Amino acid sequence: MTDLTTATAEQLGRAIAAGESSAEEVTRAHLDRIAAVDARVHAFLHVDADGALAAARAVDARRAAGEALGPLAGVPVAVKDVLCTRGVPTTAGSKILEGWRPPYDATLVARLREAGMVILGKTNMDEFAMGSSTEYSAYGPTRNPWDLGRIPGGSGGGSAAAVAGYEAPLAIGTDTGGSIRQPGAVTGTVGVKPTYGGTSRYGLVAFSSSLDTPGPCARTVTDAALLHAVIGGHDPMDSTSIPAPVPPVVEAARRGASGDLSGVRLGVVAEFAGDGAEPGVAAVFRDTVARLTKLGAEIVEVSCPHFAYALPAYYLIAPSECSSNLARFDGVRFGLRTGDDGQRSLEEVMSMTREAGFGAEVKRRIILGAYALSSGYYDAYYGQAQKVRTLITRDFTAAFGRVDALISPTTPFVAFPFGARTSDPYQMYLADLYTIPTNLYGGPAISVPAGLSDGLPVGLQVMAPTMADDRMYRVAAALEAAVGPLAPPAL
Ligand code: GLN
Repeated sequence: MTDLTTATAEQLGRAIAAGESSAEEVTRAHLDRIAAVDARVHAFLHVDADGALAAARAVDARRAAGEALGPLAGVPVAVKDVLCTRGVPTTAGSKILEGWRPPYDATLVARLREAGMVILGKTNMDEFAMGSSTEYSAYGPTRNPWDLGRIPGGSGGGSAAAVAGYEAPLAIGTDTGGSIRQPGAVTGTVGVKPTYGGTSRYGLVAFSSSLDTPGPCARTVTDAALLHAVIGGHDPMDSTSIPAPVPPVVEAARRGASGDLSGVRLGVVAEFAGDGAEPGVAAVFRDTVARLTKLGAEIVEVSCPHFAYALPAYYLIAPSECSSNLARFDGVRFGLRTGDDGQRSLEEVMSMTREAGFGAEVKRRIILGAYALSSGYYDAYYGQAQKVRTLITRDFTAAFGRVDALISPTTPFVAFPFGARTSDPYQMYLADLYTIPTNLYGGPAISVPAGLSDGLPVGLQVMAPTMADDRMYRVAAALEAAVGPLAPPAL
């Protein structure tokens, strides 16, 4: 294999298992690429070159000893900086956790290591995963490899940009309202939000616990499925983890790649049509529907009347949960402590620490959430939002009685220039218009490159019933085979 950084994870895994390339050589190629381009892209907050090379050499030693290697052994992966990595800095994109080195690995990270995967480092993100552009990272934004003047999506823009820019073949993201799928869409990569509870949250810095879902970022649907199979499945350390095996995602991706979707019924959500999508995105979606029909799928229009209320419901539920989760950053237990001069009270130190450590968007959400949960307002806001969540779930259940999966554009607009949406929070929130309903329901969804609008990538979202993750892989792989790969201009 000549170009190790443009190869798929599947190809790299095969080459390493067959002894055609060493894991060390593959890792060095990616570290060199990071050294060459990351000053411009800024996908990484921390590169762990020593740890990566040691992990790679361990895989090479296992192979030399005659051990059979798994499909992703020796394959590099980048991890969103919201997952705990033992001894390796974990900031969640926030100043309040600057310099913190967790004493343990998240379950997901442990599974990557058990599979022999090589962790290259930690990727940039909006602070505590709140945002859609990485502009809310306390460490400066990540740039989109397709156009360095534009955002790579968020909150997991670092993971998506690392994959799009050939700095890593695979990455881990987390999706609370769209933070894997939306960055996938705007960087021309594949982003998967598994079924809630299908991937462990143990060791994930919590934003909104009833919504947070870790998942794969990749350049191909099969690569995403291979990573999904490594990280998914029951974890006794997470009380919301589903005690069931990972759905057959790899088989489904391979089946889909044959390009035959006959017998598959896909629902187009009527409420999304003409709702907020810019013309270029709407045009790619129309072409995609035609392509899917050609592949044999039957397209049906379905109505999900409560999807229109998903955004307001999410922006009550997610901030409410975050106001509770972020209370642990108190300047006492770990992370930043400001103003502790031995004279000030605990409350003063706590307040100064939080003032200095949290960015504006995080503060906005803590205040909003604390208000929505306060006595007297709880029923009117949080309680009401929970009722809407139930209605949205019923919309999904009714739709899945008629179709196998739902499709929509992943995002209403392509990657936007820096600064375009930071002055009005609502404009930023709109980036997740089509992704949020799935999080409220808990089902799986994937974003797969569907085409270009003005030279920038557009994603198709495929949403499936809970624990039917394999279905969306099949549809996405079929579309991928029809569209062909989208590659950004050389960096
Ligand atoms: N952009 C959404 C938000 O700001 C979703 C974030 C996410 O999925 N982590 O909350």
